[in-house]
Amino acid sequence: MTDNALLSGSVSALRQQLRDRAVSSEELTRACLERIEACNGKLNAVITMCSELAIDSARAADKAIAKGDFGSLTGIPLLHKDIFCTDGVRTTCGSRMLEQFVPAYDATVVSKMKAEGAVMLGKCNMDEFAMGSSNETSFFGTVKNPWDLNCVPGGSSGGSAAALAAGMAPLVTGTDTGGSIRQPASLCGVTGLKPTYGRVSRLGIIAFASSLDQAGPMARTAEDCAIALTAMAGIDAGDSTSADLPVPDFHAGLNHDIQGLRIGLPREYFNDDLDPEVRERVMTALSVLEQAGATLVDIELPHSHYAIATYYVIAPAEASANLARYDGVRFGYRCDEPVDLEDLYLRSRSEGFGEEVQRRILVGTYALSAGFYDAYFNKAQQVRRVITEDFTRAFDRVDVIAGPSAPGIAFPFGAKQQDPVAMYMEDIYTLAVNLAGLPGLSTPAGLINGMPVGLQLIGKPFDEQTILNAAHRLQRDTDWHLARPQLEALAP
Ligand code: GLN
Repeated sequence: MTDNALLSGSVSALRQQLRDRAVSSEELTRACLERIEACNGKLNAVITMCSELAIDSARAADKAIAKGDFGSLTGIPLLHKDIFCTDGVRTTCGSRMLEQFVPAYDATVVSKMKAEGAVMLGKCNMDEFAMGSSNETSFFGTVKNPWDLNCVPGGSSGGSAAALAAGMAPLVTGTDTGGSIRQPASLCGVTGLKPTYGRVSRLGIIAFASSLDQAGPMARTAEDCAIALTAMAGIDAGDSTSADLPVPDFHAGLNHDIQGLRIGLPREYFNDDLDPEVRERVMTALSVLEQAGATLVDIELPHSHYAIATYYVIAPAEASANLARYDGVRFGYRCDEPVDLEDLYLRSRSEGFGEEVQRRILVGTYALSAGFYDAYFNKAQQVRRVITEDFTRAFDRVDVIAGPSAPGIAFPFGAKQQDPVAMYMEDIYTLAVNLAGLPGLSTPAGLINGMPVGLQLIGKPFDEQTILNAAHRLQRDTDWHLARPQLEALAP
């Protein structure tokens, strides 16, 4: 088998080849490690490699396979976003604050995937503390989009999306607080799933905004996302917000038949602000689903307009509380020779955190301060409820809600960096889904000027299966998800 076949294989195909002993996990793992070594200089998608650990786990997987002992991911190499704590492996969250941080335990997602036999190759670059939509806020430098090295990969899980698109691993993880799985998936031409809030444990995921954060998979197909979600999901005694619900076998539950599926098109997403080319790609994808038996229904989400303002009060407020723990005393970066306690706090936090993180802490503490709490934080919580009710009402009439994943294609470095609000608009179609705690998926819907665009499918709470099925059907009837950047151009 050629390396390129290995490097573009789906998890489901590779899993079969491993079971048939057509390839060993060690071969596959070495091919991925070589690929990372060859391309990472250009892409900067991976912050930390664990080559020895990976080869050891691959050998263990090969032994298990020889005995006929398979987990759902046995022998499959993967990369984790560097927000997941990994036992004995540095976990930076893209920040100087945690540049030297080595956790003493695995996040639940990491241990669950390990228990299913996955082989961890390393950790992916990301926006600092997952704040951003372009990967330009990482302390470890920007990640390049493998489709065009002059453009951003999206964020905050941009390292994961770029690594996947570049063939460094067949499976990667991300987290999504306001769009950070779906938007980079859209900009890098891969499939990304943000599960329902509570579906996946947050234990060991470095907290950004606790009521919004959710981990999920990115992969080459919806089918692979179904396999990975089953491995990641489930109640966890260590996360009181994880849902006490059975985890279906999403892979076994995949069904191409979408006859009668009602897909809602929010008027507020398909308005005059929508880029005409994005609209055309999204509508073309939806017409494929229509031909497969779905019906398109016009719906309204009348308070969508408030999502950005609401999110940018709630997320910074929660972040300011979560980031208070980085005080230079207990762990993380500490400034040199503080003269007193205040100087220690002030300089450790000013030097350890980047500009965007500091901006969020300022906004968040302001919104939570006495005197402004009611006007901002409380008001935002009320609007969040109203936004959630819009979805509840819409889901009385439809099974899935569709729209773009992002307002456009990948943009050049620096294009939005000077204007935080322009950057915040990148998540205009994704944020409300987090505010309402719903599952959302981005699947490729073709190219504009050679760059990928994503279709977003939003589901009812805990109904990841229906959006996976619709994406699976789309991927059976089209080949947009198979488009790849020029791999040869990436290696030196
Ligand atoms: N871009 C959004 C933000 O900066 C969302 C980030 C995320 O989902 N982690 O907050």
